[in-house]
Amino acid sequence: MVFQAVGKLLGYKNRGKSINKEKKEKKGVIESEKVYLEPRYTAARIMDADILMLVALPKGLNVDEWLASNASAFYNHVSLLYGSISEFCTISSCPTMKAWSIQYQWTDERGRKRKCSAPQYADYAASIIQKILTDEDLVPTKHCKEFPKGFRPAIQKTFRFLFHLLGHIYTCHYKTAVMLELHPHMNTLYLHLLLFCAEFDLLDSKEMALSEDLTTALIRSSPAPKTLGNHQRNT
Ligand SMILES: [Zn+2]
Repeated sequence: MVFQAVGKLLGYKNRGKSINKEKKEKKGVIESEKVYLEPRYTAARIMDADILMLVALPKGLNVDEWLASNASAFYNHVSLLYGSISEFCTISSCPTMKAWSIQYQWTDERGRKRKCSAPQYADYAASIIQKILTDEDLVPTKHCKEFPKGFRPAIQKTFRFLFHLLGHIYTCHYKTAVMLELHPHMNTLYLHLLLFCAEFDLLDSKEMALSEDLTTALIRSSPAPKTLGNHQRNT
């Protein structure tokens, strides 16, 4: 089942191509600006072989419990990463929330959109995620409680914010991340998160297409993990 996640990710490439091409033309994004796509960087990981295994739902485990525990772990990792570069992410350095080719606006609880800086967006996102993950009615931690209908949308929202935050670091703070030697961690975390989202349909395909070039580069530059290798041989 996890192999489908890789297939989905690679499948986004074709759908994403036309969208990205259009956006590049509109916004004048130059490919060479994407330092993170250089092979010397995409090959940098802290681990490779077990990402597909890490994504898979362990036998006998409730899928919602698996999603909740992973959401919490991913949130902690992304927070640590963002915290490491946060002194470089200020209202003056990042007056808008840019991630990939998009400038995200914040949508408040009444559905009103407003522009905000990247650090403000990160703050808002963190407080919403914390609220979701600590809401016992939404994300029950006791065995007798069932996960409510609102759980999946809330978890999707959580992963969407995490994807935006990671995207902002790649797009606007990659050189700082390299300077701090964080890029192997970022690549591993990014690929793990994208594979997880693909496996459990947690991110919209249009959003995933925004960074399909990075996803494809990371998958292709993997040093042939055993599971990925088997998948390729079978197709
Ligand atoms: Zn920033």
